[in-house]
Amino acid sequence: MGSGGGQWIVEKRSSFRSEPLEVNVSETGCLSIVVLGASGDLAKKKTFPALFNLYRQGFLQSNEVHIFGYARTKISDDDLRNRIRSYLEKGSAKSEEVSEFLQLIKYVSGSYDTEGGFRMLDKEISLHEEFRNSTEGSSRRLFYLALPPSVYPVVCRMIKLCCMNKCGWTRIVVEKPFGKDLDSAEKLSNQIGELFEEPQLYRIDHYLGKELVQNLLVLRFANRFFLPLWNRDNIDNVQIVFREDFGTEGRGGYFDEYGIIRDIIQNHLLQVLCLVAMEKPVSLKPEHIRDEKVKVLQSVMPIKDEEVVLGQYNEVVLGQYHGYRDDSKVPDHSNTPTFASIILRIHNERWEGVPFILKAGKALSSKKADIRVQFKDVPGDIFNCMSSNHAIRILLDHSIRKSMSVKQPGLEMSTVQSELDLSYKQRYHGVTIPDAYERLLLDTIHGDQQHFVRRDELKAAWDIFTPLLHRIDIGELKPISYQQGSRGPAEADELLLRAGYIRT
Ligand code: NDP
Repeated sequence: MGSGGGQWIVEKRSSFRSEPLEVNVSETGCLSIVVLGASGDLAKKKTFPALFNLYRQGFLQSNEVHIFGYARTKISDDDLRNRIRSYLEKGSAKSEEVSEFLQLIKYVSGSYDTEGGFRMLDKEISLHEEFRNSTEGSSRRLFYLALPPSVYPVVCRMIKLCCMNKCGWTRIVVEKPFGKDLDSAEKLSNQIGELFEEPQLYRIDHYLGKELVQNLLVLRFANRFFLPLWNRDNIDNVQIVFREDFGTEGRGGYFDEYGIIRDIIQNHLLQVLCLVAMEKPVSLKPEHIRDEKVKVLQSVMPIKDEEVVLGQYNEVVLGQYHGYRDDSKVPDHSNTPTFASIILRIHNERWEGVPFILKAGKALSSKKADIRVQFKDVPGDIFNCMSSNHAIRILLDHSIRKSMSVKQPGLEMSTVQSELDLSYKQRYHGVTIPDAYERLLLDTIHGDQQHFVRRDELKAAWDIFTPLLHRIDIGELKPISYQQGSRGPAEADELLLRAGYIRT
């Protein structure tokens, strides 16, 4: 809690869930979850643990669900189970629970571009459905593509050809990156869009599954206090920040193809910006929310060169270069930014003139993800206080802080900055905050697309960044070198100052 800080009291609850968009959807019955790329990193670290947590909490019932791993690697069911066991045996998970869950997993090995493996997979799923006595309309098939995007089109074709559910829904979850620029994203969207309808496609951006990101709509639109303040008349600037205190660490090959803008800013931070800046949706229906997000994206002005700072981390020790390009998979003359600070400007009635600063970097001095909204000075201030500090800060690792000026306790009439601090750990004792992947998988099972990226949203997001990315790709814009473990290039702090941000 901040000095002199109070706490927000938690009282009544109400819940909301939006309706599935598909026709004839069933919410119950035999459920087959297929993890494609089951031998990979994401599957073992995120997908299987998220499924396990849903199972532990009773959202996946052992009499309904069966989980299939699919990949080319030739391993047995037990080999796969042994590979993922240690990722499940964490926290309060009991070893028997883990073993029970692992028994729900079956592994099928096959290639991604031929029918044989997918026919085998379909046979296994059908056996499970028959065993569970699925009646028409009551079986569900969810395919999770934990795979490199290069194989998405062919894998989707094989699913369509060999594995469609004949008596219930089929849904496809795809991971980022969805393309590298506008053209490649549109090409991928066209290829997948020819096979599946939009309501069947779930493009994951795991930031949309974070508790505090989901809280943004509630904070903004369920509190009368914020409604009249949330505009250009009162807000000076908005900053959305992602900082990591480690570098690419062995993933330099992958990272160098994408860079920090494609990896973090174009998707995660831009999604957060949409939720901060959008108008109130007509309702909580996914289409209403996503319509408003698209409008914000379409109102973003072209990015100006003078409002961009790029960086690449390095370190010179005794005349020797150490840094990003040390990774053997990163080219010696890589122009890929590991840091970027970019101002976006939204050309609409609410936000004209308010800079939205999106900043992300690797190998910095600290690790954090937060949103900072700074208010304008109080007109005719009689206290001479730093009212620009009147900020709201939403730390995505679970706290919301509202700073305000209050009277310094005591005989003197002076002011001090204090904070209302809603720290989730203190306020919600014993409540486990679900992992983003858990929540998003459950949403997929429920057919709720509210927290997934729609195709036109994706296109609008690429529209904003593609010209800048192309100029970086051809070396027209170059990253400034910054010291590992620093705050990033000094030029980024200067950009912040120019944007009106006051460091507190
Ligand atoms: P991996 O590199 O671990 O690949 C997953 C599996 O795909 C591998 O086990 C391999 O299985 C198969 N595979 C790998 N390369 C190829 C290839 N060139 N052609 C065909 N198959 C291949 O990826 P991750 O698990 O790390 O990521 C999967 C997806 O999720 C990617 O799109 C990634 O960008 C995204 N993602 C990953 C995150 C993470 O934390 N790892 C975080 C966010 C998104 P096999 O050889 O057995 O078939």
